[in-house]
Amino acid sequence: MSGVDLTAEAERLGTALLPVAETGTPGRVNRELVSALAAAGLFDRIFADGGVTATELCRIRQGLARVCTEAETALAVQGLGGAPIQLFASPAVKERWMPPIRSGEAVAAFALTEPGAGSDAAALALRAEEDGDGYRLHGEKAYISNAPEADVAVVFARTTEDAGARGVTAFAVDMGGEGISGEPIPMVSPHPLGRWSFDGALVPAESILGEPDHGFTVAMRTLDLYRPSVGAFALGMAEAGLRIAVEHARSREAFGAPIAEYQGVAHQLADARVAIEAATHLVYSAAAAYDSGDEETLTGKAAMAKLHATEVAQRVVDMAIQVLGARGLEADSTLAHLYTEVRAPRIYEGTSEIQRNIIARELLRGRI
Ligand SMILES: Cc1cc2nc3c(=O)[nH]c(=O)nc-3n(C[C@H](O)[C@H](O)[C@H](O)COP(=O)(O)OP(=O)(O)OC[C@H]3O[C@@H](n4cnc5c(N)ncnc54)[C@H](O)[C@@H]3O)c2cc1C
Repeated sequence: MSGVDLTAEAERLGTALLPVAETGTPGRVNRELVSALAAAGLFDRIFADGGVTATELCRIRQGLARVCTEAETALAVQGLGGAPIQLFASPAVKERWMPPIRSGEAVAAFALTEPGAGSDAAALALRAEEDGDGYRLHGEKAYISNAPEADVAVVFARTTEDAGARGVTAFAVDMGGEGISGEPIPMVSPHPLGRWSFDGALVPAESILGEPDHGFTVAMRTLDLYRPSVGAFALGMAEAGLRIAVEHARSREAFGAPIAEYQGVAHQLADARVAIEAATHLVYSAAAAYDSGDEETLTGKAAMAKLHATEVAQRVVDMAIQVLGARGLEADSTLAHLYTEVRAPRIYEGTSEIQRNIIARELLRGRI
């Protein structure tokens, strides 16, 4: 299947999933939707044995985002939580978690952020203390997608004090275990999000992903794959917003003519189209860098793609609301929904400011 076909196929699947998405409670995990994504074969695709390519992941996320942001987010968070297990777990841990993650029976999460460590993730303080054959976790995770309902989470914990990024270990944690509690954090979007407290929860040593004290490699490898695809999510939302604006501009009449005939409107549409086209090239260039193993430029390109596409999507959705006038803000409208959804990607997986820091660093190193 060609790339463009895969985007169109994801869009078709997303449309079919809309009724399931609508049965969900905003801010909570929609297990029916997760199962439906599995039944549609999308988890088999993103957890394929040879691994998903970044380009395929982008195509799927872009297609879903055009029509059903809830399905897109459910897929992306399952992917972000499952990918480190697929890439770094021991065969036994992989065997325990990957089949239920792929089938949608187990909901996954990726738990890096803490109340005191967001952009500065290396400052994380949740402790993992050795205890017999395992470790006991003490601390908190906050603003974690799919928390507190996820069944399994990749939890990043401090195993060596005062070692910054070099003292962090990643664990695949059964979130039904003793010593773990949590609650949702309601957000302005329907995105399921929450926090967890760990009060001496025991995790076996075999649940370590990769090597002890090398959890940051696990986090960064996963984010290298997922960061361009956050840009693809944003592209899909921008395209959805622009479509609505174009349709409306053609049909809405004011002062005796369709508003598309007024340059003040038409130029907004034109600028949006140019911005989306440019962002598309950045996203797929970053994905291609990941897929070809281009370590030199990958980090900088992924940061440029994520930064630009998420900022473009915000502007395009805002522009679309302007073109629709009052209709664009009706509470049940697609645009009002996109308006709440489009904001968060400028914050998660590295804020726009952090992306700029990365781009500047890579530029000054001569890598991009
Ligand atoms: C919807 C949503 C879903 C999320 N899902 C997850 C998840 O699944 N897993 C997970 O681990 N986390 C998740 N997060 C958390 C997210 O990754 C963090 O919110 C993000 O990293 C920013 O951290 P912070 O909110 O603590 O902001 P802070 O780090 O406190 O930053 C506050 C402000 O300061 C700026 N700033 C900070 N440092 C610098 C600097 N060096 N230079 C310039 N500006 C700087 C930031 O850009 C920002 O504008 C999610 C967040 C949201 C909103």
